[in-house]
Amino acid sequence: MDCLFCKIAEKEIPSDLIHEDEFVVAFKDINPQAPVHFLIVPKIHIKSLDQISKEDNALISHIFNLIPKLANELGIENGYRVVNNCGPDGGQTVDHIHFHVLGKREMLWPPG
Ligand code: 5GP
Ligand code: ZN
Repeated sequence: MDCLFCKIAEKEIPSDLIHEDEFVVAFKDINPQAPVHFLIVPKIHIKSLDQISKEDNALISHIFNLIPKLANELGIENGYRVVNNCGPDGGQTVDHIHFHVLGKREMLWPPG
């Protein structure tokens, strides 16, 4: 399948990897929107949040348990933002589900 994040997960395309386990990879965003900006990406191809099912509960839970651990390891001390862009109106540009984690600056709200 011609999917950028599948290729990054399989190391066909290099990335600045910060974590890997059986279920996910996490790597720095190529176009960071904050001093710390990384992505958590499941190894299995799921197109978007809109496509998840109950079978993915353990995976989603794993990702959200990992987020504070990685944020802490990267020295984010004063809070952070977790973002999932879903579909065209959500601003999704890579059609393989991923969660952004942004930190080390104050975030704006509403996001626009
Ligand atoms: P989306 O817009 O789908 O929520 O997020 C896609 C993210 O992937 C963007 O923040 C973009 O900068 C990042 N991105 C796109 N291509 C690459 C790449 O080849 N390597 C890395 N590390 N990040 C990428
Ligand atoms: Zn994929």
